[in-house]
Amino acid sequence: MAVVSYKCPHCGGELIFSPTTQKYKCEYCLSDFSQEELEALKPEEGSEEKAVNFEEDTQEENTTEKETQEAVIYHCPSCGAEIVTDETTAATFCYYCHNPVVLSGRVSGEFLPDKIIPFAIDKKQATEKFLDYVHSKKFVPKAFFNKQQIEKISGVYFPYWMVDMDMEGSMQAEGRNVRVWRSGDTEYTETKVYCVEREGDVHLEDITKNALKKSNAKLAEGVLPYDVSKVQKFHMGFLSGFLAEKRDIERTELNKQVQQEANEYGEKILRGTVKGYSSISVKSCHLNQTQENWDYTMLPVWTVTYKGKNGKMYYYSMNGQDGKVYGELPIDYKKVWILGGIVFGVVLILALMGGYLL
Ligand SMILES: [Zn+2]
Ligand SMILES: [Zn+2]
Repeated sequence: MAVVSYKCPHCGGELIFSPTTQKYKCEYCLSDFSQEELEALKPEEGSEEKAVNFEEDTQEENTTEKETQEAVIYHCPSCGAEIVTDETTAATFCYYCHNPVVLSGRVSGEFLPDKIIPFAIDKKQATEKFLDYVHSKKFVPKAFFNKQQIEKISGVYFPYWMVDMDMEGSMQAEGRNVRVWRSGDTEYTETKVYCVEREGDVHLEDITKNALKKSNAKLAEGVLPYDVSKVQKFHMGFLSGFLAEKRDIERTELNKQVQQEANEYGEKILRGTVKGYSSISVKSCHLNQTQENWDYTMLPVWTVTYKGKNGKMYYYSMNGQDGKVYGELPIDYKKVWILGGIVFGVVLILALMGGYLL
């Protein structure tokens, strides 16, 4: 497996993917290159520690346990320094020269992603959007307004499975319509019971599941959904200038869960076509899957870690396409108390005024 880094053909500087222009930009001479131009360039490859070259040279069965325990060392193509990664790192930066590097073996072969949605907001925009989010919330501690804390925001491509599914569905339900009217002293109730049947094809698109064990599934899935019209065929260059992780959750592990979710959606869709009754109860629903397609997809996420005063860590994720933030903000109880005090004070004053007026 090789370490690759993309170099500017004009000056040799590092090329990184720019979310604002959707092109590759040289940080030094400021030239930019399109996707096609980048594909025509040969990335620079660095050497790698043979001893830890587990993906090509060693039998997977024998090394699985070892892999998960050991960080893996690569060499930076620019300065030759060691780059230490964990077993799911797919793109990172050299600690010494800050050169962005992509670990090509981790995004090729069986781990070659099918699709990617490139970052659409850059670090500056992400920082602003995060500050807007924090400002819009009450009871957040003052320290959280500190921009420096938030500037540690990092852009990561996280691995996901995106599933499309076709199903044939049929549903039997009972619909009731109740009419009540009065004539003289008598109240009449008429209940009409209908046997309702539905049959149809259900097509579900982009059921998206987190594919990285160490990521917090709530944070990883909280940033969904993405605008899939922006999806592109995967190219390694997109990772240049960001962090990226490779999947370690296989589709077999998610099959049952996805199936169940698809059935729930399918039932909801069929049920949604039954209208015009005051109540509906579903008697039976069958969904037969006719086709499914799983795409291994990289999605852009900005992540923020914040250390609270009590040492507690808070984690946030932001959709790298539209800036939607997911996570729980720390609550400053002093602020809650002050507001509580004000509310109490107002109530007390109102009560006193009430007493006075009486
Ligand atoms: Zn350049
Ligand atoms: Zn380096």
